[in-house]
Amino acid sequence: MWLPSFHATQLLQLLCLQVFVVKCGMSIHLFNPYQPPVYGFTLDNSIDHYTYLMQNISQHMKDYVTPYPQTYFGMYDQKCAFPRGKVLGGTSAINYMIYNRGNRRDFDRWAQEGNYGWSYNEVLPYFKKSERAMLKGLENSPYHNRNGNLNVEYVAYRTAPARAFLKGARQAGYRKLDYNGESQVGTSYVQATTSRGVRHSAASAFLRPIMHNRPNLKILINSHVKDYLFGKGLFTMIGGVESLTFYKSPNSQDPPDWPDAEIIQLGGSFASDEGAGVSRGMNIRRDIYEAVYKPLERYPTDHWSAFVMQFRPKSIGYLRLQDKNPWHWPKFYPNYFKYEEDLEILLEATKEVIRISQTPAMQAIGTRIWDRPLPNCAHLHFGTDDYWRCSIRTLSCTLHHQVGTCKMGLSSDPTTIVDPHLHVHGIQRLRVADNSIIPYPITGHTNAVSFMIGEKCADMIKADWVDERMQKTKITFH
Ligand SMILES: Cc1cc2nc3c(=O)[nH]c(=O)nc-3n(C[C@H](O)[C@H](O)[C@H](O)COP(=O)(O)OP(=O)(O)OC[C@H]3O[C@@H](n4cnc5c(N)ncnc54)[C@H](O)[C@@H]3O)c2cc1C
Repeated sequence: MWLPSFHATQLLQLLCLQVFVVKCGMSIHLFNPYQPPVYGFTLDNSIDHYTYLMQNISQHMKDYVTPYPQTYFGMYDQKCAFPRGKVLGGTSAINYMIYNRGNRRDFDRWAQEGNYGWSYNEVLPYFKKSERAMLKGLENSPYHNRNGNLNVEYVAYRTAPARAFLKGARQAGYRKLDYNGESQVGTSYVQATTSRGVRHSAASAFLRPIMHNRPNLKILINSHVKDYLFGKGLFTMIGGVESLTFYKSPNSQDPPDWPDAEIIQLGGSFASDEGAGVSRGMNIRRDIYEAVYKPLERYPTDHWSAFVMQFRPKSIGYLRLQDKNPWHWPKFYPNYFKYEEDLEILLEATKEVIRISQTPAMQAIGTRIWDRPLPNCAHLHFGTDDYWRCSIRTLSCTLHHQVGTCKMGLSSDPTTIVDPHLHVHGIQRLRVADNSIIPYPITGHTNAVSFMIGEKCADMIKADWVDERMQKTKITFH
C-alpha cells in the first residue's frame, strides 16, 4: 500500500499492512526543536524566521503561478507566492500553526451534496481523535480531546497589543469564545499546533513517536511518485499570530453563525524582520517595502498588524497540468477578485479592524494607523474606500488554503474526482486523502481538516481490510 499522507500511523496498527510514507522532498531537521514560526496593513504601536525560510526555499513554486491583471500590484512579476512543504510532515512543517477546524456548516454542506459520513457531527470525532488539547479553560469541553497525538495549545507569550486587541474586539461587540467549539463568531487568542511553544507538525506528532519501532513502516524521502501501477499492490509565537476575530459582513446572505472573514492580529509587521523574511515570503516588491514599511524598522516592537482573510470566496481558481510529465509543475490560475464581491468583503473587514483599533482598549496603548500610502495608491485619498480597494489589490495574497483540486462528491458530478470513501471514481484501490478532496473552501485554516481527513481515511481503509478478510475466511456450514 502506498500512502502519501502522515496518517500512515493509524494504518500501522494493522501490522500485516506495509505502509510507505513517500515524500518528494527532503527530511529537514524536523525534530529539531528550533522551529516555531510565520508572518495587511500595519498599525503603529518577534518573529522567528523558520517558517519564512522554508517558504522562501519553496518559493520556486511562484514561477508556476500565472500573473493576474486585477491584483498582486505589489508583488514581483504580479505573482503571489504558492509555497508547499515538500518535506516529511508536508506543509504542516512550514505553516503558521493556526489551529482552526472550520464551521459546522461547511461540513453539513459537504454532506448535503451527497458526501455521506462527512457532516459536522460525523467528522467531529475525527477532529478530536488526533487532538491533544492543552487549552486552559477548555479541559471539560465536549469539542476537545486530551489524548491524541497532535498538541494544541494557546500561545504562551502575549504582547500588549494582542491583549489590547482582544479587549478592544470585546468592546466592539465580539464575545470571547472557543472558535473550535459551539460557535465561531467572536474573538479569541489563537490556538496553535505547538507543543510547549515548539512546532508540532504531522511528522513530529505522528511519525516521530513510532518511526523506530514499527517494522511495517518505510519512510522514503527525496522520492517522487511518478506512476501508480494499476493492478499491482502497491520560540513560542507562531509567526506573530496572536488572536483571531471572526467577522460577518453586513451584506452577507449566509446565516449569521457563518462568518465571512477572519481578522488575524499579529504582533509586529513586515518591518519586524527588516523585510528579510515575511515580505519576501509573500513575494512583495522591495520598492513597496522601502516606501511603506522600512521607516518602521526604527521602532521594532511598537507596531502590530492585522491580516484579513476571506472565507469561501466567490472567485475560484484552478490548476492545469502542462503535460503528462510528472516532473513538470502544473500551472496555477488563482483568479483572485474575479468577482468584486470578494474585494468588498475584505474592504468591510479592513474597516472593522480600524473600528476595533479605535476602541478605548486600543487607544489606551496609543494605536494609530501607519498612514504611509502605497506608492501605486497614493493618488487616492488615504483611508477612503477607494484607497483601501487599491491597497487590497496591491498586497493581497493567499494564506495557502488551496483545496478542491481533487474534489470529493458523487460520480454524477463531473467536477468531482473521488467518492465519499475517497476512492478515485472508477478505480477501487486508489484513494486520495489530503486537502485536495475538500469540495469547497472552509471557514477556517486547512491544517486541522487535513488531519481529520487522514484519520477518517485510515478508519475507512481499516474497515475495508477487515471486510475483505471476513469475506476470505467465510466459513460455510452444511
Ligand atoms: C506558508 C503556509 C502557511 C500555512 N499556515 C497554516 C496555518 O497556520 N494553519 C492551517 O490550518 N493551515 C495552514 N496552511 C495550510 C495547511 O498547512 C495545508 O493546507 C495542509 O498542511 C495541507 O496538508 P495536505 O496533507 O493536504 O498536503 P501536504 O501537507 O502539502 O502534503 C503533501 C505531501 O505530499 C508530498 N508529495 C507531493 N507530490 C508528491 C509526489 N509526486 N511524490 C511523492 N510525494 C509527493 C509532499 O512532499 C508533501 O509531503 C498553511 C500553508 C502554507 C503553505
